[in-house]
Amino acid sequence: MIRIIVDGVVVTLLAVVLTLSVVTWMKAGSLEAQLATVQKGLRETNKKIAESEDHAKTADAGASHGALDAPHWGYEGEMNPANWGSAFPVCGTGQAQSPVDIRGPFEKSDQSIRLDYKPTPLKVLNNGHTIQATVGAGSTMTVNGTAFELLQFHFHRPSEEHVNGKPSAMVAHFVHRSAAGKLAVVGVLLKEGKDNPVVRSIWANAPQKEGPEVAVPGAEINPASMLPARLDYYSFEGSLTTPPCTEGVTFYILKSASDISLAQIDAFPFKANARPIQPLNGRRITAN
Ligand SMILES: [Zn+2]
Repeated sequence: MIRIIVDGVVVTLLAVVLTLSVVTWMKAGSLEAQLATVQKGLRETNKKIAESEDHAKTADAGASHGALDAPHWGYEGEMNPANWGSAFPVCGTGQAQSPVDIRGPFEKSDQSIRLDYKPTPLKVLNNGHTIQATVGAGSTMTVNGTAFELLQFHFHRPSEEHVNGKPSAMVAHFVHRSAAGKLAVVGVLLKEGKDNPVVRSIWANAPQKEGPEVAVPGAEINPASMLPARLDYYSFEGSLTTPPCTEGVTFYILKSASDISLAQIDAFPFKANARPIQPLNGRRITAN
């Protein structure tokens, strides 16, 4: 890819040099003038190639943090959430962005959801933005008869969603996808309380720094153990809460929270990884 871009620059600039040479030859007729022009053109060509290679190095460095050639982003510094839109337009211009502040009055939800999560081999990823548990096939969510497969769940501190203006200590986002490619996220708010056994397994194997996924031989977790007893929810249409902030994601934030201990909250390697609250822009929040 990078080689093709550099080659493209060379071809274009050689064409420019050639054209300039011919024009100069026709106008000046002096051999010295022709040579000077060709040499100037070559110097410029070399400069462009050097610039391309510099750009290629920068792009390679970015690749280790996620998608190929994806710009850096984060929760602080130059590429903090207020500036995500400069590299990921939907983050800046989208009208149905997540997270939101959940407050009533609520319309009655017409959706029935069923969660059927199964034990899964423990696979933990630190992607530089969160800790994620990757879930094997077989755990599903059913919304009005449509099946969504649970792909992964991950954590934010504090919770990204607020209820009546207030965040919880943390939130776990369970990310599901239907056969048609539609995304649905179940949010389980985590409040300070008892030790959370699923979190204990994940934290014990989570790399402190960004790196490849860690598969823990013989270890299993059951995502169902993360769920509170009651599954009543608030629901709204939103987006990925991280770049590229793609919209068309349905959220179900459970009204009941699950426990996580203070020590577990403190041990999460990301001090703050919550995108700020986004405007509703007329969206309705439903509740069941
Ligand atoms: Zn999330």
